[in-house]
Amino acid sequence: MMLSPHVTLIIKVTNACDMQCRYCFIEPSVFHKKMTDETARRVVRAFLDSDFFESVHFVWHGGEPLLRGRGFFERVFAEQRAGTTEVAYTNSTQTNGTHLDDDMLEFLLANDVSIGLSLDGPPELNDASRKLRRMLPVLNEGSRRGSGAGGHATTVDAARRLQERGRAAGAIVTVNRNNVGEPEAVYEEFTSRRIHMKINPLTRSGLADTALGADLGISAEEYGHFLVRMFDAWFDDPDPKISIEPFGQHIARILGDAVAQSCFYTLSCHRFFLGISPDGDLFPCGMFQGEPSFRYGNIHEMEPEHVARTVLFNGIEARESKVLATCSKCAFFDLCYSGCMFHSLKDAKILETKDYYCAGYKIYFEHALRRIHDNLPRALRTSRRA
Ligand code: SF4
Ligand code: SF4
Repeated sequence: MMLSPHVTLIIKVTNACDMQCRYCFIEPSVFHKKMTDETARRVVRAFLDSDFFESVHFVWHGGEPLLRGRGFFERVFAEQRAGTTEVAYTNSTQTNGTHLDDDMLEFLLANDVSIGLSLDGPPELNDASRKLRRMLPVLNEGSRRGSGAGGHATTVDAARRLQERGRAAGAIVTVNRNNVGEPEAVYEEFTSRRIHMKINPLTRSGLADTALGADLGISAEEYGHFLVRMFDAWFDDPDPKISIEPFGQHIARILGDAVAQSCFYTLSCHRFFLGISPDGDLFPCGMFQGEPSFRYGNIHEMEPEHVARTVLFNGIEARESKVLATCSKCAFFDLCYSGCMFHSLKDAKILETKDYYCAGYKIYFEHALRRIHDNLPRALRTSRRA
């Protein structure tokens, strides 16, 4: 099997960060790594000069990617525009907002970069896990509060400034011990601020696998109940103002609509995603850079489409076939496709098994399907209006 010609790249331009989220998946041993201009140039050219790839989504990721400053990204975007290419491409970045001042914000928007944020709920839930290494000034003068800002204030300030410029704001919520019992409060925080939501469960890797974050882990069942209550808060909202993933994509899939799919519920994610470490090492996705045995090779030494020729890629294909076979009788198979292999590796501690959160997915799918079946007009309205 081959890599898809349509890929999403998770590019780690630095592993450093001025926050210290207690569940951060970056392994401390690679915290000091940052990408050179030469490697960034090679990443751009390897995909845009290719006659294999047809579309590429560059996700500029970290660590905190905006620590690299405007100059780094000016050089990246100039390289993308240098020469002609047949490859369609888009850019996005996933940021904690600490370096998203107005100058950076306008620069990124002027270059058509989609900006994703992270928010775990209201201040007490967010700041319990998403810790600043030091108190930071709020970047926008208009909302400066004197002494500084916590992680929550920084994120909602960034969301507001995006919205002031006519852009939608969206954030990932990481479900962990601090917010797993509070889905309604998390929903209220997002909907009152019109911040679109993408839900991810915590993964026991990086700091979440050390003393700093070990208490944040949740069970599969707890995750399932969080999803159920969040689904109901959204589905029963008479005037839903935000989209929530994965709910929107699952409703769309049931109704036959074409939507972008989140990687967790994608068949063969390793054909559509590549992670690139600061050193240029290629991995199945951005989560694997702390796992040397999941390194395909280095982008300075191979064409990226050739990862599909490696023993590792074929091993992942074989692993997927085996796991899918164990899921094949599941009623929710074609909404889930066995989940995420990184959750299998780090949370279940067994690569060749289905996702650690399987029992939670079943609780959620069972509930959501019944509710969608009982009220299809509402499902249509909720997924298409939000
Ligand atoms: S391994 Fe997991 S996190 Fe990585 S792309 Fe696949 S589903 Fe997503
Ligand atoms: S819900 Fe569980 S059994 Fe069903 S497809 Fe997903 S991981 Fe497999």
